Amino acid sequence: MVFQDPLNALNPVFPIREQLLDVIRHAGKSREEAKKISRKELEEIAIQSLGEVKLPDPKRILSCYPLELSGGMRQRILIAMALVNKPNFLIADEPGTALDVTIQAQILDLLENLVISRGISILLITHNLGVIQTTTERVYIMYAGQIAETAPTEILFEDPKHPYTQGLLASVPRLTGGQIAEGIKGTVPDYTEVPSGCRFHPRCDYVMAICKKQKPPFVEIGPNHKVGCYLYTDRGKNDE
Ligand code: SF4
Repeated sequence: MVFQDPLNALNPVFPIREQLLDVIRHAGKSREEAKKISRKELEEIAIQSLGEVKLPDPKRILSCYPLELSGGMRQRILIAMALVNKPNFLIADEPGTALDVTIQAQILDLLENLVISRGISILLITHNLGVIQTTTERVYIMYAGQIAETAPTEILFEDPKHPYTQGLLASVPRLTGGQIAEGIKGTVPDYTEVPSGCRFHPRCDYVMAICKKQKPPFVEIGPNHKVGCYLYTDRGKNDE
């Protein structure tokens, strides 16, 4: 997993060397196996790992503390750590949020290249609709901890069905003019006291009586396109 904020994910009081070597020593190995690897071997793997995420001068970086590196460099180090175990599946939690847009684009390019060169799948957790549209193949729209809608990316952006997805897409400001986006009314619920039935119901313009009582089923409405909303069920259509 690549954690969200690289500054918090790395320990500020140890140099990168200690943190990366520790991960390499123990990744996928028993305690006995880990003890047998020499520090020289570990260091060689560390240098190679930093090179793979396109970090220049890996030897110098190993001696640095996290605070001495830029946000983009720290993010690359976290990616290098996540790759040590040779994963088939990587979870990247907001991998560019703490970075400026140009560095964010470089990190996303790096992740995209990993998909191609290593054949791994990446689950990207993000609030950035532009990033989702340009980098992913399938989207799961989450609301208050539940999946509201899922579809291949192109279909979801062309024909969003869940009122929350529609609200999200309508909230994006358009550079081409038109009305200023209004956003979705209300606020996200307290996660310790989520609304009954459909969790989106207090904010939904199409709310029906059934929505407040029971969680909507997740129904298939097209090829690989599913939505959790009563508007697409017979029960919802018959509701007053
Ligand atoms: S189930 Fe009801 S409240 Fe929930 S999104 Fe659909 S219409 Fe709105």
